[in-house]
Amino acid sequence: MKEQLLKLEKEALLELKGINDPSGLEKFRIKYLGKKGLLTAGMKKLKDLPAGERPEAGKLANVVKGNLTGHFEEARERVASGKAEGASFLDVTLPGREPLRGNLHPVTLVIKEVCQIFSRMGFMVVKGPNVELDYYNFEALNLPKDHPARDMQDTFYISGNVVLRTHTSPIQIRVMEAKKPPVSVIAPGKVYRRDSDVSHTPMFHQVEGLLVDKDVSFGDLKGTLTSFVHQMFGSDTSLRFRPSFFPFTEPSAEVDIRCVMCGGKGCRTCSHTGWLEILGSGMVDPNVYGFVDYDPEVYTGFAFGMGIERIAMLKYGINDIQLFFKNDMRFLRQF
Ligand SMILES: [Zn+2]
Repeated sequence: MKEQLLKLEKEALLELKGINDPSGLEKFRIKYLGKKGLLTAGMKKLKDLPAGERPEAGKLANVVKGNLTGHFEEARERVASGKAEGASFLDVTLPGREPLRGNLHPVTLVIKEVCQIFSRMGFMVVKGPNVELDYYNFEALNLPKDHPARDMQDTFYISGNVVLRTHTSPIQIRVMEAKKPPVSVIAPGKVYRRDSDVSHTPMFHQVEGLLVDKDVSFGDLKGTLTSFVHQMFGSDTSLRFRPSFFPFTEPSAEVDIRCVMCGGKGCRTCSHTGWLEILGSGMVDPNVYGFVDYDPEVYTGFAFGMGIERIAMLKYGINDIQLFFKNDMRFLRQF
C-alpha cells in the first residue's frame, strides 16, 4: 500500500510538470484528485488493510494528497500567469489583436492639400531653414533694424543676429537669391513666436507663396487666390480682398472668406462680422527686389502667406489651437 501511494505520487508529479494549459490541468485533476480519481480510489482501499497498518497508511495517504493538491495549485497559477515551463501556451483559435493604425495629423493633411492645390497651378514646393539669419527673416524683407513693424512679432533670438524664423517669408528671399525669374514657389514650414493662448502657440505652421515674372498683376494674385479658396473650401465660398499693410508687399491685401460656421449670418467664430480672415497677400515691394538683384522695372510679382492651423481650424471646425499639439488620440483619430 505504502509503495503504491508513493509510486502514484511520483507519477502524478512527473505528469503535472508537463502540463501547460488549463484543459490539461482539468484532466489531471479528474484523473488523480477527482471523486473517481486514482488517489481517492487508493484511499478507499485503506479500509481493507489490517487494523494495525491503517493509521500509518492513512497518514501517508493524507500527506500525498496534500502534496499533490499543493503542486496542482502551483501549476494552476503558473498556467494562469502564462509562465509555462519549456513550452508556451498558444491558443490559435483566439481572435487576433488588431494592430493600431496610424493616421496623418490634421496639420500635415492641410499642408499636403495646400501644396497639392498650388502644385497643380504650377508652383514648386520648396523649404528653408527653421533657424534663420536676421537678414533673411527681417532685413531683406524690408524690415530694417529700427522698423516699427518688427514689434508685431515677438521673436525667439538664438543670438543677436540669429533667430527662429517668425514667418516663412525668408524662404522668398532665399529662392529669389538662387534663381532668376520666372519663379513660382510654395513653401510650407514651422514658424516660431513668443505667444501662447487658445489661438496662439509658440510654434505653428505657415505656407508661403511667391510668383515673380514679367507682367504679373494684382489680377493674377486675385485669380490665383480665388482659385485656391474655391478648391480648399468649396466652389461656392465667397471671398473678399481687404486692403492691409505688410512691410514686404505693396499694395497689400488680406483675404477673408464667408464664415464657414454661420454662412455669413454672424456668429462667435467670425465675431459677428460674417467674414473670416484666412491669409495675407500683396504685390512684392520693389524694395525687396533690391536685395535679390531683380530689376523692379522688368519684373513684378505677388506673395502670400497663411497659417496652416488657422485653415485647419476653419476647415474642420476646431476651436482650440492647442489641440493640435496635445497628442490626444481621441482628437487625432478623427481625421
Ligand atoms: Zn460666423
